[in-house]
Amino acid sequence: MLKLANVGIIYDDIYLEHDTGNHPESADRLVETMKLINEKKVLEYQNVFLISPRPATIDEIAIVHKRDYIKYIEDFCKKGGGYLDGDTPCSSRSYEAALYAAGGGLAAAEKIKEGKIDYAIGLIRPPGHHAGRYTARGFCIFNNIVILAEFLLKDFNKIMILDIDAHHGNGTQDMTYDRKDILYFGIQQDGRTLYPGSGYPEEIGMKEGKGYNINAPLAPGSGDKSFNNIIDEVFIPIAKQYRPDFVLMSVGFDSHFSDPLTDLRLTTQGYRNIIHKVKNFVNEYCNKNLIILLEGGYNLRAISRSIVNIIYELADIPEEIHDEGDHEDEKIVRYTGELIKRIKSELNNYWKF
Ligand SMILES: [Zn+2]
Repeated sequence: MLKLANVGIIYDDIYLEHDTGNHPESADRLVETMKLINEKKVLEYQNVFLISPRPATIDEIAIVHKRDYIKYIEDFCKKGGGYLDGDTPCSSRSYEAALYAAGGGLAAAEKIKEGKIDYAIGLIRPPGHHAGRYTARGFCIFNNIVILAEFLLKDFNKIMILDIDAHHGNGTQDMTYDRKDILYFGIQQDGRTLYPGSGYPEEIGMKEGKGYNINAPLAPGSGDKSFNNIIDEVFIPIAKQYRPDFVLMSVGFDSHFSDPLTDLRLTTQGYRNIIHKVKNFVNEYCNKNLIILLEGGYNLRAISRSIVNIIYELADIPEEIHDEGDHEDEKIVRYTGELIKRIKSELNNYWKF
């Protein structure tokens, strides 16, 4: 009999204590998601496990962030919080929540190492992929995915990060730009039309990291087919040549067509299709090593439904959540075809297509 994969869902109510007030990156995002997970009885499947995160230690975070910055966040929250930059609020408990957000991925990695689970999805907040070494940015405090990548590099040699949040993962890219032991691959809405304004095909890395940073800036209106074609024609070929030991995903549900802040057009089945392909890749090439961490996404229905659909996919549960309607124009798919040619031409010296 086929053995089902064991899937860990990383979650704790501590994530609700990062109080952002009246802000799109709200605790309701996780409240709604856990509600749907319970309604659909997802945790009753024998191969789905709820896993408690642990706080990351200061030393684990300090591999990625300056110690002065970590201390600054701690003190700022102790004094009651406020805005860290123009759009990144924090409350008195945000520092604690951020330690657990960074530790969510680490707890997942530890459970995978112990053989308790195969894949994990971290339902964590605050998100992380915009955070820089000494800067909170774009709703992010600590860069959870890079902290996890550094943690894994103690046991492994090569980590591949796939970021499908609608916003470019500029913090992640900046921190890994001159490295080849962490390969960053971002698919996002074109920076000419969305924060933070970076993430172009010519941003391919520097020094020994040249060729190990890949960006696919999609036109507004891009949806399931465009994402699928980038995955098939660029991501998978590079992944097969890079042969990572571990694949990490920064997943933002703001690439969904109903997101209020962005203009991409993924459906919940589109998200699932991407996870399906990445899952097949890690099953065949890297010992099922896959951890997904939550980044953005601001339509509560889209986040919760897409997350449950992804868990169904990871756990091989024969259930499906489907969005009705056609959400991508053929003209946009053709534009993405041209974009793929541009991306390949930037990377021709490094990868075979
Ligand atoms: Zn985002």
